[in-house]
Amino acid sequence: SDILVEVNELRKYYSIGNGRQVKSVDDISFSIRKGETLGLVGESGSGKSTLGRTIVGLYPPTSGSVSFAGTDLATARGRQKREINRQMQLIFQDPQSSLNPRLRVGEIIAEGIEAHGLAKGREKAERVHQLLEKVGLHPDHAKRYPHEFSGGQRQRIGIARALAVQPSFIVADEPISALDVSIQAQVVNLLADLQAESQLTYLFIAHDLAMVKYISDRIGVMYLGRMMELAESDDLFAKPLHPYTQVLLSTMPVSHPKHRAERERIVIGEPPSPINPPTGCPFQTRCPQAMGICKQIAPTWREVEAKHWVACFLYE
Ligand code: SF4
Ligand code: MG
Repeated sequence: SDILVEVNELRKYYSIGNGRQVKSVDDISFSIRKGETLGLVGESGSGKSTLGRTIVGLYPPTSGSVSFAGTDLATARGRQKREINRQMQLIFQDPQSSLNPRLRVGEIIAEGIEAHGLAKGREKAERVHQLLEKVGLHPDHAKRYPHEFSGGQRQRIGIARALAVQPSFIVADEPISALDVSIQAQVVNLLADLQAESQLTYLFIAHDLAMVKYISDRIGVMYLGRMMELAESDDLFAKPLHPYTQVLLSTMPVSHPKHRAERERIVIGEPPSPINPPTGCPFQTRCPQAMGICKQIAPTWREVEAKHWVACFLYE
């Protein structure tokens, strides 16, 4: 099978007291092919990070399942579970807070190598040096501490740490959002190069479409814990079906003047609180095309065209 990750009716709910819940991830199903980059976009609070962390097994799901290379994470035990933990790695948005400030960079990168028994002694040190070079740093940097580096360099260290255990799947949770614009393209290019070199599969999380456009084969759009649309990147940009995706696209800067007149910016209000989401379709309070039924029941997730999934009554 060419499917690496399969997410099936996944839910992650948080109790917030008084019997109330936040549905951070609500009934999401999709799969990720080997070697592809799936971009995941949505406003803050849409559940992107929670989905990414639940997929790599950092959070247990409330219900539903995640399979990795055909194995259900919930049933994996012992050696198999450790192996899956090695294969799935996470790159964080803020390398500042995800790198232990008391450890030298070499120790940070070596941690996973040791934990998984991949190398020791001289071989381990050599691997650390190779990893530093691979991400565009110098082997001597192994002796320094995280605070001695810039934000972009710290993200490179975070990437080296993830790569150290030779994963096949990486969830990159807004890996460039905290970086200067001038550095963002460098880090994205590095991730793309590493993918080509090591046949990596990525789930690349970002808050806007412009950031994932360049790197993603397919893009998923989340809103209030639900997946609204998922399609090949080109299809999504050429023919966005979901009204929310259309809004996101309308707010993107247009690079070509020819398209400027064709695309009118659609303005909608503030998102509802995830603590008190709307009934029916989660987007109904802001949707320019909402109908009566949208307030009553939620639309189902369906493949309305080849490889183009959407949850919206306009297509039922
Ligand atoms: Fe808009 Fe209704 Fe579609 Fe939701 S289901 S996006 S409210 S048209
Ligand atoms: Mg987040």
